Amino acid sequence: MPGGYPSLHMMIDGEKVTGGGRRTFDVVNPATGETLAALPLADAADLDRALETAAKGFRIWRKAPAAERAAVLTGAARLMIERREDIARIATMEQGKPLAEARIEVMMNVGLFNFYAGECHRLYGRELVRPEGMRSVVRHEPVGPVAAFSPWNFPIGNPGRKLGAPIAAGCSVIMKSAEETPASALAVLQCLYDAGLPKEVAQAVFGVPDEVSRHLLGSPVIRKLSFTGSTAVGKHLMKLSADNMLRTTMELGGHGPVLVFDDVDVDQVLDTAVPGKTRNCGQVCVSPTRFIVQEDVFERFRDGFVARMEATQVGDGLAQGTQMGPMANPRRPEAMERLVADARGKGAKLHTGGERIGNRGFFYKPTVLSEIPLEAEVMTEEPFGPLALINPFRSEDEMIIEANRLPYGLAGYAWTSDSRRQRRLADAIECGMVGINSHMIGGADAPFGGVKWSGHGSEDGPEGVLACMVTKTVHEG
Ligand code: NAD
Repeated sequence: MPGGYPSLHMMIDGEKVTGGGRRTFDVVNPATGETLAALPLADAADLDRALETAAKGFRIWRKAPAAERAAVLTGAARLMIERREDIARIATMEQGKPLAEARIEVMMNVGLFNFYAGECHRLYGRELVRPEGMRSVVRHEPVGPVAAFSPWNFPIGNPGRKLGAPIAAGCSVIMKSAEETPASALAVLQCLYDAGLPKEVAQAVFGVPDEVSRHLLGSPVIRKLSFTGSTAVGKHLMKLSADNMLRTTMELGGHGPVLVFDDVDVDQVLDTAVPGKTRNCGQVCVSPTRFIVQEDVFERFRDGFVARMEATQVGDGLAQGTQMGPMANPRRPEAMERLVADARGKGAKLHTGGERIGNRGFFYKPTVLSEIPLEAEVMTEEPFGPLALINPFRSEDEMIIEANRLPYGLAGYAWTSDSRRQRRLADAIECGMVGINSHMIGGADAPFGGVKWSGHGSEDGPEGVLACMVTKTVHEG
C-alpha cells in the first residue's frame, strides 16, 4: 500500500468485510490525485446483517454499567494518543489537511472521549416531590440503535463524535462515514474495539450514500439519526427519518459572519482570522466566511488579509512547513471556480487567488474578494473553501442585519473592544455558537451545533450524550 495507507474494509458483526464481488470506491490522495486503495461498498444483505447486529448490540450495551462504558472511552482515548502519528498520517493522506491539523484532530477526539467517559457517571434523572407513599422518578434511557453519517472534512473528529455519544449513552451505532476518508474512521473504531468495546455495539459500513441512508432509516431497528453534512442532504434525511419518527441530530452548513468594528487592533484580528480561514482549506462548517467590516478599518483589514493569504504556504499536507493543503475532492475547486467567476461577473473585486495551483491534486489558491454584491451566489451559498468575502459597512445595526441575513445560524464571530457592544452582539447574532474576540468556539464540554437551517441538536458537552437518550417518567402509587 502506498506510503503506509492501510487496506480497507467494513466492520459488520465483528467481521472485517472486504471485496467478495462487492462494488468498490477508489479512495484518492487529494494532494496527488493518485488512488490509495479500493473501498468495498455494502449491498442490501450487508446492511441487513449490520441492522440485526445493531439490535443485538443495543441489548448488550444498554445494560453495560456506566463504569464499563467509561472504561472503553478512556481506554480508546489512551490508544489514540499512542497511535496519534499513524492516525494523523492516514487522515492527511486521504483528506489533504496538514499533518499538524490532523494531530490536533486526534487530540480533539481524546478530549471528547475522556469528557464523555465522565458523563457516563452523570446521566442523572430526578425524583419529583410527591405525597407520602408515592414516588415519581424521571430518568434517561438510551434511545436505541443509532445511524450515524459523517462527512469527509474532519475524517477523525466527525467519526469520534458519531461514535462517542451513542457509546457513552448505552446505544449501539452503525456508522457510515464518508467513502472519501474511510481509513481514519476505521482507525478510531479500532481504538474502541481494542479498548474492549463489544464488536456488536459499533459497526462501520460504506456504500452509495442514498442507498445506505434509505435502507437504514427505513428499518424499524434504527431509533436515531445523527448527520453532519450539507443542509440540502440534511433536509432530505429528515424527511426519510419522519416515517419512523426518528430522533435526529443535524449538524449542517453555515456561512460564518465575522463582524469587525473600528475599535479593534486590526493586526491582532487578522492574526486569528486568516489562519481561521485557511484551516482545513476553508472546508469547515464554522469557517469564518463573510467579513462584515466597519468602513473606517475596511481598507487596512482587507489589505492585511490579502498580504497574509499570499504568505500562506500551500502544499502537500505531509510536507514540512505546509500551512494549507489541497481541497479534499475535485468537487471543491470546481465549486470555487464557479463561485468566483459568478461573483466577479456581478462586480466583486478579486484581490488575490481566484485560481487553481498546478494540475496535480486539488489545490486552490487562498482567495480574497471584496465589495461583493448580495446577488452573488457566494453570498448565500456556503463556499466551503479558502475564500474570504470582505464587505464594508457603516453602523452596528447594518452589520447585525447582514450577519443575520441568511437562513444559516451555525457560528458567528465579532471583534470589538466595547464591552457593552460585546453583550449586545452576543444577544443579537442568530447562531448556535458565537465567538466574541475569539475564533475558539469548540471544546469537549461545550455544545456544538446550529440553529435555523444549520440544524438542531448538539454534539459534545452533556447535550451530546443526552441527544442519544430518551426521557421516561415512572410513577409509583
Ligand atoms: P454532499 O452534500 O452530497 O455530501 C455531504 C456529506 O453527506 C458526505 O459525507 C456524503 O457522503 C453525505 N451524503 C450525501 N448524500 C447522502 C445521503 N443521501 N445519505 C447519507 N449521506 C449522504 O456533497 P459534498 O460535495 O460531499 O459536500 C458539499 C457540501 O456539503 C459542502 O459544500 C458543504 O456545504 C457541505 N458539508 C458540510 C459539512 C459540515 O461539517 N457541516 C461537511 C462536509 C460537507
